[in-house]
Amino acid sequence: TEIPDIPLNDGTSIPQLGFGVFQIPPAETAKAVAEALRLGYRHIDTAAAYGNEREVGEAIAAAGIPREQLYVTTKLWNADQGHDRALAAFDASVEQLGFAPDLYLIHWPTPARDRYVESWRALERLQTEGRVRSIGVSNFQPAHLRRLLAETGVVPAVNQIELHPYLQQRELRAFHAEHGIVTEAWSPLAQGELLDDPALGRIAQAHGKTAAQVVLRWHVQLGNVVFPKSVTPARIAENAQIFDFELSDAELAAIEALDRDHRTGFHPDEME
Ligand code: NAD
Repeated sequence: TEIPDIPLNDGTSIPQLGFGVFQIPPAETAKAVAEALRLGYRHIDTAAAYGNEREVGEAIAAAGIPREQLYVTTKLWNADQGHDRALAAFDASVEQLGFAPDLYLIHWPTPARDRYVESWRALERLQTEGRVRSIGVSNFQPAHLRRLLAETGVVPAVNQIELHPYLQQRELRAFHAEHGIVTEAWSPLAQGELLDDPALGRIAQAHGKTAAQVVLRWHVQLGNVVFPKSVTPARIAENAQIFDFELSDAELAAIEALDRDHRTGFHPDEME
C-alpha cells in the first residue's frame, strides 16, 4: 500500500511514514536504512547529533533510488546554534550526507542558550538561497513558537515533538493546527514502553494487527508524520503495514483516554 504525502505550508510535501535512525550505531545504520528502503520506506529522519549522517548518505547512494524520490531530514545540534554557526553546521551535514537534506530542523530550542531566533534566521536564509527546500523546528513549546512567529518571517513547516498515546500533546497540536504547522511525532511508540497496554492489545486483536501497528495507525489518522525506529527487519516491515486498516471512532476515543503525561525523553525546557 502506498504511503500518503502530507502537504507542508511551503508548498512541498512529506511522506507520512519515515524511518528514524536515532540510537542506531553508525556501523549498523547503512544496513538498517538499506532494509527500510528495500521495504518501501522513502523518508529517513536523522540528525547531526545521531552521528550516522554519513552512513545514511551511503545507504541512499547504494540503493540506486533516484534522489528526488527520497525524503531526508537532518537537524542542527544545540552546540551549533547561532546564525553563522548554524550555516557552518548545515554545510557539515551536507558534507556528511553527500547531498542537501529536504528538511532541516533546529533540534531543540535550548532556551538557556537563547539562540534559536538567530538560528532560525540562518535557516530562513538557507531556504531563500535555495539550499534547502523546507525548514522547521523540533521540541519547540508554544512559547518558543510564538516568539519565532512574532520575531521572524517564516512559519516552521513542521515541529517534531515527543508524541504517543501516553503523551498526547493536545496544546501543541492545537497550536500547530491553528498555524499550519505539521506535527511530526518522535518516539511514536514511546520507545516500546506502551506496547503491553491491554487497551491497545484489545484493539490490535480486533484488527489482526500488533499494538505497534495500532499506535502507528492512530498517529496516521491524527495526521501526524511518524518515523518509528527498529533494526529488526521483521519490525521494520511490520511498522510499514499501517495503511490497510482503519481505527473506529470508539477505538480512537479509547486510545485518547490513555494520555498520562509520560515522557520517554528530555523536557524541552530543560535540554541545553
Ligand atoms: P520509537 O518510539 O520509534 O521506538 C523504537 C523502539 O521501539 C525500538 O528500539 C524497539 O525497541 C521498539 N519497536 C519498534 N518497532 C517495534 C515493533 N514493531 N514491535 C515491538 N517493538 C518495536 O522511538 P525512537 O527511536 O526514540 O523514535 C523514533 C525516531 O524519532 C528516532 O529514530 C528519531 O529519528 C526521532 N527522534 C527525534 C527526537 C528529537 O529530539 N527530535 C528524539 C528522539 C527520537
